[in-house]
Amino acid sequence: MKFNTKAIHAGQAPEKTTGAVMPPIFQTSTYVQSAPNEHQGYDYARVGNPTRTALEKLIAGLEGADECACFASGCAAMDAILKSLRPGDHVIATNDLYGGSYRLFTQVFEPYGIEFSFVDMTDTGNVREAIRSETKMIWIETPTNPLLRIVDISKIAEIAKKNSILSAVDNTFASPYLQRPLELGADIVMHSTTKYLGGHSDVIGGAVATSNQEVIENLRFQVKTTGGVPGPMDSYLVLRGIKTLHVRMDRSVKNAQTIADHLENHPQTDKVYYPGLESHPQHTLAKKQMSGFGGMLSFTLKEDTQESASRFMSRTKVFALAESLGGVESLISHPASMTHGSIPAEVRRKTGLKDSLIRVSVGIEDVDDLIEDLNQAF
Ligand SMILES: *Cc1c(COP(=O)(O)O)cnc(C)c1O
Repeated sequence: MKFNTKAIHAGQAPEKTTGAVMPPIFQTSTYVQSAPNEHQGYDYARVGNPTRTALEKLIAGLEGADECACFASGCAAMDAILKSLRPGDHVIATNDLYGGSYRLFTQVFEPYGIEFSFVDMTDTGNVREAIRSETKMIWIETPTNPLLRIVDISKIAEIAKKNSILSAVDNTFASPYLQRPLELGADIVMHSTTKYLGGHSDVIGGAVATSNQEVIENLRFQVKTTGGVPGPMDSYLVLRGIKTLHVRMDRSVKNAQTIADHLENHPQTDKVYYPGLESHPQHTLAKKQMSGFGGMLSFTLKEDTQESASRFMSRTKVFALAESLGGVESLISHPASMTHGSIPAEVRRKTGLKDSLIRVSVGIEDVDDLIEDLNQAF
């Protein structure tokens, strides 16, 4: 089955009792048993819910995974993955990372004795050098947030395999429509379904997909034991959103390329970060590992100050100033003071995140209106 068909049908079947085409929202906390432990596959809704199962099967299908476990947020999904680690274990992570991931790693897991090395993964040699005997996981984010750098998933997955280390990819920015890390050799793929999978800025959710039996057992254990699960309504919203993923993504990618080309030629921009630009340092790699360059881009202003960025962002009318991304509406944000505010300024600057950097999540509006809005904001 091709992707666009899978997005609508993978793991889905009409509901048994009524033939409903869409899975109902099974709003229940528990399920009747005919005798102790005799039930139809569900006993208590922390452990499982049919609406959530339908979503998990769909995401597993899209990522080419045996199984998927869904969570109440992307952060809860990462939390569940990392809880398989033990004090003394070591993780190598991309240095240009989603701010919330950095906060989770350094402020929750580091105090529990798990060690992290943040490296520039655009040079895979840095990953090789950071490996220790205690290294248990390599955490990849690509394209990175907010600098849209591209990390070579197959190369790093190969390094990980050779050293018996698990490789995990945060695939939130690309979505499985544009990039499928498991097909490139990674062990685990994770999503904030809040973004492209949900696609309508109306739900918070997370997912992890894998074909590694040990990993899925740990995830199921975490679901049951720590219970960071999504409710049936939220599961339904993500499921509903995914059915148009390919159509939304196509338009976002097209709009983003047009805007990136336009901004690159604008006299008031300094640098434009978009993997679809030939000036992007990993343009060729992006072309190889992704089937499209995504709907996210960033740019800096000639006047590189937080004030000039704030001024610009307060003037846009179609682009809404907001955190988050991946919805049908275009959003604009300032990483240095918003999403990446929890990363210390000196760490931020060292990774190349400039003060005037503006991040754009390109929606599916008419691109002429988007460009006109940016032009008037300069
Ligand atoms: C938003 C996001 C997360 C966190 O997901 P939530 O659903 O907000 O908890 C993780 N990684 C990336 C790349 C994100 O954009």
